[in-house]
Amino acid sequence: MAWKDHVRRVEPYTPGEQPNKPSMVKLNTNECPYPPAPGVAKAAAEFDADCLRLYPDPNAGVLVRELAAYYQVDPDQVFVGVGSDDVLATAFLTFFNSDKPILFPDITYSFYSVWADVYRIPYQRPALDEQFRIRKEDYYQENGGVVFPNPNAPTGVLMPLSEVEDILRHNPDVVVIVDEAYIDFGGFSALELVDRYENLLVVQTFSKSRAMAGMRIGFAIGSAELIRAMQDVRFSINSYTMNQPALRIGVEAVRDAAYFKQTLTKITATREEAKRRLAELGFTFPDSKANFIFAAHRTVPAKEIFEALKKEDIYVRYFDAPRIDNYLRITVGTDAQMEKLYEVLGKILA
Ligand SMILES: *Cc1c(COP(=O)(O)O)cnc(C)c1O
Repeated sequence: MAWKDHVRRVEPYTPGEQPNKPSMVKLNTNECPYPPAPGVAKAAAEFDADCLRLYPDPNAGVLVRELAAYYQVDPDQVFVGVGSDDVLATAFLTFFNSDKPILFPDITYSFYSVWADVYRIPYQRPALDEQFRIRKEDYYQENGGVVFPNPNAPTGVLMPLSEVEDILRHNPDVVVIVDEAYIDFGGFSALELVDRYENLLVVQTFSKSRAMAGMRIGFAIGSAELIRAMQDVRFSINSYTMNQPALRIGVEAVRDAAYFKQTLTKITATREEAKRRLAELGFTFPDSKANFIFAAHRTVPAKEIFEALKKEDIYVRYFDAPRIDNYLRITVGTDAQMEKLYEVLGKILA
């Protein structure tokens, strides 16, 4: 059974649990606790199933044009995919094709090493400093490409835009991917740098700030040359990645800028209150600019708190990994969900 010797073996990514209990408080996968823009529900209700007979537009034109208008770039600078995981995987396959190792932090989005493994891309993981900050100098060495989230996950730590630019300036010969899954919650986007650095790819998602994790839409913005290279790879695997409902409904999530801002204001206010309350309960954490807080308790081990919360149907994320196994990643929920969390934590930690 020699075929077994030729299977592409890989250790898959483990997504956060998706339990489905009506009473639960779900703070484990950084979803938005508020519904998507009202136009989304309307477009979903009015969606005409007859159009499903036909293949969708392979260029995802309506969505690409909507995003280009919103971010004030040319449509040929926009790539859309089935969540940013699809966009990032396509970017890895397209741009990380060198014998030199790509670089990403030791503590970061755990999907990066999985894509590197499945595509046989060599990699190195420079360590974050003691405060969980990315040390930009680590990315000045020779490499086959650079990728990091900003703010970083699961720490929530934001890198100033000037340091993102320092990394770009030292890496003119490789593609630098900035994964901005959480940028809308208080960071400065590297989008303003794409016109000056043709090797910069900025990746964002509808899953967190736009409350559309279930729809699976992500996008990348970069130079037209980068986007064309990604399109060529995409059209070599699957031309019709974006389905009709995602295209039709997705545009509505972009159109309502006022609703978007309102949601972000609520979440960031709840996050700042969470910093005060968690500190009162004895937690320490790096300052977060994302929609989650990465917190360790001064005396009680994270794993114990994680299990105790789960018994009360409160789900947070725990990573059993070096350097971070005493931390909990707590998504910012509604104020009511957070009050429930503080109440239960108060009992557990008493
Ligand atoms: C959530 C997340 C993504 C992927 O989200 P999609 O739902 O696939 O768009 C990518 N990068 C980071 C850092 C994330 O946290």
